[in-house]
Amino acid sequence: MRELVGIHEQKDIDKLVEKILRDLGRPEPPLDLKMVRELLRLDRKYYSSTDVGPLAEFAHRIKVAGKRLAEDPSVILEVVKKAKLSGLWLPDDRKIFIDSEVPELKHRWIEAHEITHSYVPWHAEFLLGDTELTLNPACHETIEAEANFGAGRLLFFGPQFSLDAKDCSQSFKSVQTLKARYGNTLTSTFWRFIEDRDPGRATFGLISDHPRSSEINPAPDGSGVHHFITSIAFRQLFPHVTAVEIYAMLKRNISRSRRGPVVSGNDVLIDLRGEKRIVALDGFCNTHQVLTMGWLPP
Ligand SMILES: [Zn+2]
Repeated sequence: MRELVGIHEQKDIDKLVEKILRDLGRPEPPLDLKMVRELLRLDRKYYSSTDVGPLAEFAHRIKVAGKRLAEDPSVILEVVKKAKLSGLWLPDDRKIFIDSEVPELKHRWIEAHEITHSYVPWHAEFLLGDTELTLNPACHETIEAEANFGAGRLLFFGPQFSLDAKDCSQSFKSVQTLKARYGNTLTSTFWRFIEDRDPGRATFGLISDHPRSSEINPAPDGSGVHHFITSIAFRQLFPHVTAVEIYAMLKRNISRSRRGPVVSGNDVLIDLRGEKRIVALDGFCNTHQVLTMGWLPP
């Protein structure tokens, strides 16, 4: 998702996050989103398929293909579901809306995402523009990627997470420690740990099913892989290595156990010069998914 966010936009969003943290008096993690909402004077509301009422406020603002929708909130719900949105942001009323049918674990991320739409000034212009609820797919994708980038920077305190992660060892245990400290999901903490702990060290993260236990987290496409995350250095040293190859590596190294540490030891990857490189592995199963990290030991 980061590739979609331009360097300048990343810098601008970092500055905006920095200002929020400063205005909050530099709190310690975890970030209290209620304080952020109060600071930014935002109102939070929930909607669901059985309670579309809150969406009525959108009815007179949303145009689809140049036409206004009927003032029927259930039509809006349909549009929202089709656009795969889990939340909404209404700039002129400073309100954010969250789909309460999304698992609660994800609400924090959705809220931070919608909050980001509110503090990134060019998002308001965009949402208030002619098409209002963004329907240009390319544009929409960029705006959404920026909101996800901002959500990550906010929930992980800008540059602070990467500094904290560097103080911890390269291990799954560190991810758990940082998850507790920042109060974010295991998945998002794992993701940030792989990308941000040390972008100069070749590191990958694989979020997958359990190759020896078919009922844990099966992937819809049958590949077993849900996400393949890599550091900048990994992409430079192993540009040809795919998620499929890493999944095969996982298969060679995973135990039958379905809970706790399930992967450890070393394996080998061939780098772009054709040289064999030792990769250290550490993986964990939380009974819902397997999270595996691999890195080149120093
Ligand atoms: Zn969004």
